[in-house]
Amino acid sequence: MIVARDLHKRFGDHEVLRGVSLTVGKGEVVAVIGPSGSGKSTLLRCLNHLETIDRGEVVIEGDTLVATDAAGHCRYVPEAEARRICRRMGMVFQHFNLFPHLTVLQNLIEAPITVKGLARDAIVPVADELLRKVGLFDKRDSYPSRLSGGQKQRVAIARALAMAPDIMLFDEPTSALDPELTGEVLRSMRELAEEHMTMLVVTHEMAFARDVSTRVIFMDGGDIVEAGEPAALFGNPSHPRTRAFLQRLS
Ligand code: ATP
Ligand code: MG
Repeated sequence: MIVARDLHKRFGDHEVLRGVSLTVGKGEVVAVIGPSGSGKSTLLRCLNHLETIDRGEVVIEGDTLVATDAAGHCRYVPEAEARRICRRMGMVFQHFNLFPHLTVLQNLIEAPITVKGLARDAIVPVADELLRKVGLFDKRDSYPSRLSGGQKQRVAIARALAMAPDIMLFDEPTSALDPELTGEVLRSMRELAEEHMTMLVVTHEMAFARDVSTRVIFMDGGDIVEAGEPAALFGNPSHPRTRAFLQRLS
């Protein structure tokens, strides 16, 4: 579960998050939509500590990552503790960021061995199972350069899952892919959702948001403008900015 309260983040004079609060309950699949520059990626990056916030509170699976006291002082837990907390979240980016010099299998087992200290013998069967799950067991000994974009992204998903996260964050995982390759990645994500993985997904894939998510958040200008069940938000958006955004897409 993710609880974020009143997140503020500025880059110089630009306030990119202007008091964002959200909760992602266990097993929920929350889609984040909104125009370019609205702060979607920054929000994800603040949740898993790739960026620091200026004010607010983030609690992951009951553990406080950062909190702000009454005097407005924003304090993070010590770095080692922050890393431990953030390891409960796996993240998949637009660009796959696979290690090019490692095979698919090695990509999956690297962090579990070096970060978690798992024995190779313990993690290899887990990795093999994850590769079967994303349909890439036959590629386990290939290097990333030999894979299609969709295959790379499915490896990236399996690699994140190999750390046994409680939560998965996705930042536009299909937007760098040719259209014919997005389906296979969305299928893997849909399966994950069906297994009740807790997911926060920034996406331009409105069909995915509508069909798979339990809740949709529309962001604009660093604020959450509207949030609701997908049928309501897409079928009957209450805010003019949501309506304008959805109309532009159709
Ligand atoms: P997109 O849909 O294009 O990915 P987004 O909603 O993910 O957009 P962000 O990447 O969160 O938007 O960016 C929000 C705003 O913050 C943008 O105006 C961006 O230029 C700015 N921004 C993001 N990262 C930085 C940074 N490291 N330094 C300065 N400005 C930044
Ligand atoms: Mg982005």
